[in-house]
Amino acid sequence: PGGAGRSESRIAPLSFDEIGGQERAKKELVEALDFLVKREQIEKLGIRPLKGILLSGPPGTGKTLLAKAAAQHTDSVYVAASGSEFVEMYVGVGAGRIRELFKNARAKAKKENKSSAIIFIDEIEVIGGKRDGGQHREYDQTLNQLLTEMDGIYGNESPRILLIAATNRKEMLDSALLRPGRFDRHIEVTLPDKKGRLHILNIHAKNKPLHEGSDLASVASQAFNFSGAQLESVMNEAAIYAMRENEALITNKHLTMAIDKVMLGERTDRETTH
Ligand code: ATP
Repeated sequence: PGGAGRSESRIAPLSFDEIGGQERAKKELVEALDFLVKREQIEKLGIRPLKGILLSGPPGTGKTLLAKAAAQHTDSVYVAASGSEFVEMYVGVGAGRIRELFKNARAKAKKENKSSAIIFIDEIEVIGGKRDGGQHREYDQTLNQLLTEMDGIYGNESPRILLIAATNRKEMLDSALLRPGRFDRHIEVTLPDKKGRLHILNIHAKNKPLHEGSDLASVASQAFNFSGAQLESVMNEAAIYAMRENEALITNKHLTMAIDKVMLGERTDRETTH
């Protein structure tokens, strides 16, 4: 029981304003979402419906946030799953779960009276990896089922289904997924630049008491190559340091210790996994 799509309960409404940096990705995504928003116009012009959008980029850069914001922007229901949920020992189970995921999305949209549903699949490379001479038969069935479901999406159906998938390893994807009529919009989600980092820090500082002398711009400069998820961690760790010192406000000292901690944590992770 449960199966794909059970992560639905994680959803909270989220807007593009709560995503820091990523200006280009947001703009490209909003443009692509016009396909759902301006549905009538698209039909009248005879434009092929958009079935899938692929978000690719390093971990923790906001791909999941973008998919959630896309659902809010288009007033769609949001159903999420991860590629690894479809990997099963028994042949056919993964394919069944894909069917179930699409069925759930349609049912949920009907129940909530919405005209569209966004299905988000994280780690798509787990099911959509390149096929290598029949070695992974079970994955093949799952991928084939996904392709079948995508081919079954038409512009005039109700509810409209849009699939958004995310991957850290776009080069691993089977070409069948990248053909026109499948995931034919690709959006790169990159590590934030300094301005983006400051924006993200400010978003995660909103609910935190900062000392008036604390300098997030300097944190943004120091946190070179940090992802959004790491920047969120910096703000959280800084608050924990303040708590340990029994201080009511977060100061530069706490922020500096937090940067070191997040940087060091990453390094230790890398040393133990490689
Ligand atoms: P993965 O590839 O590992 O699944 P992801 O790109 O989907 O990662 P998210 O799950 O969207 O990353 O981000 C994880 C967390 O990091 C978010 O819940 C948020 O707290 C923070 N975060 C990441 N990117 C941003 C951003 N651009 N703006 C604000 N917060 C961010």
